[in-house]
Amino acid sequence: MDETAGIVIAGGGLVGAALALALRTSAHGVTLLEARSFDAVDADARVIALSHGSRLLLERLGAWQALTDVTAINTIVVSQQRRFGRVELSASEAGVPALGYVARYSALRRALIGVLSTSAVKVINGCVVRDFKGDADGAVLTVECAGATRAFAAQLAVLADGGDGLRLAHVEERDYRQSAVVCDITSDAPHQNRAFERFTPHGPLALLPTTLGWSLVWTLPPARAREISALDDAHFCTELQAAFGGSLGKLRIAGARQVFPLKLKYARRPRARRVVLIGNAAQSLHPVAGQGFNLGLRDAWELAVALRDTRDPGDFATLNTYFTERRFDRTATILFTDTLIRLFSNNIPLLDRLTGTSLFLLGGIPHAKNLLVRRMMFGANG
Ligand SMILES: Cc1cc2nc3c(=O)[nH]c(=O)nc-3n(C[C@H](O)[C@H](O)[C@H](O)COP(=O)(O)OP(=O)(O)OC[C@H]3O[C@@H](n4cnc5c(N)ncnc54)[C@H](O)[C@@H]3O)c2cc1C
Repeated sequence: MDETAGIVIAGGGLVGAALALALRTSAHGVTLLEARSFDAVDADARVIALSHGSRLLLERLGAWQALTDVTAINTIVVSQQRRFGRVELSASEAGVPALGYVARYSALRRALIGVLSTSAVKVINGCVVRDFKGDADGAVLTVECAGATRAFAAQLAVLADGGDGLRLAHVEERDYRQSAVVCDITSDAPHQNRAFERFTPHGPLALLPTTLGWSLVWTLPPARAREISALDDAHFCTELQAAFGGSLGKLRIAGARQVFPLKLKYARRPRARRVVLIGNAAQSLHPVAGQGFNLGLRDAWELAVALRDTRDPGDFATLNTYFTERRFDRTATILFTDTLIRLFSNNIPLLDRLTGTSLFLLGGIPHAKNLLVRRMMFGANG
């Protein structure tokens, strides 16, 4: 065997890195394997809306303190294209300092890896996990590093590969037939720490406040997303302005566009022994309401808690308890985001009118608004 570790984490994206940090003082030796080079990961254009609950977890990991370039969200404005209904959620009404925070994927990962580099966790970039075998005695991962094949023995393999690579569980999938166009935007009006979520019949359009202005996440049918993202800046802005409206004055492009295809994926119990899936490997969600990383971070935190005092981290009973205890949060968060998409982004005239009315009514019901705010800040357990 080329290498041995107590716990090997396959995938050093946000969730894999967060788990490695949460386990940094564990007695089990931890190795984090990441396929991409550090610079390639840095080129990710996504920004991540962090809930208040995630801020608290990142503080406990020491990563929040290392995070530069964070913008607070004090108000969320939810509206529907062609409908009067609109609801405003505010931090002051909810009695919290901020409803959430916006950070770049790259900055967040830099902060996590930066803290990790001062720990005993072994981080190896440029290594792709190709295969996995696990039984009652141990796990073996076959890993390709710079053209050479190496074998890693471990007591537990954690898959945090974002769901694109290894398939060790039965995965349920639904293609949303939508893609998200992501890029930086500026506007005449300053953001004033507001975030906008506008539902259109084709999909939601979000503007999140950043230090540059706004980050746009515009969901469209895949062909339309490709077409729109290939337009020159002037035509792109005309289309965007037509979908968003004029409330922020003139909108301008301020960065390169990236397109992300969107699917709902939900992994059932892993088929193999000594393996656990977390983050997007366990479930990937529609980015509406920005719940994916927030949920994945809770996966990482809860798994670290479950493994803290175990002698054998790959023990079946420990992993089974973790899986069962995560079920409620995972299912409730998926249902929440999936229902938002089904209800508010559709082309069914009666439903469209009803949801416009319900947004209007929600604006006047403080209890319902508070429930929505808590769900967005803390997840299903909030
Ligand atoms: C447009 C968009 C906007 C979003 N906005 C938000 C938001 O506002 N708030 C929020 O909470 N979530 C948001 N999300 C979701 C969020 O990005 C994901 O939930 C989060 O990135 C998942 O982290 P992860 O570590 O599980 O996966 P990833 O971030 O995908 O990381 C997986 C890592 O594993 C590596 N890898 C893959 N295969 C292998 C292998 N075989 N061996 C080794 N390494 C491997 C990859 O290189 C990658 O670095 C958004 C998603 C999209 C698409």
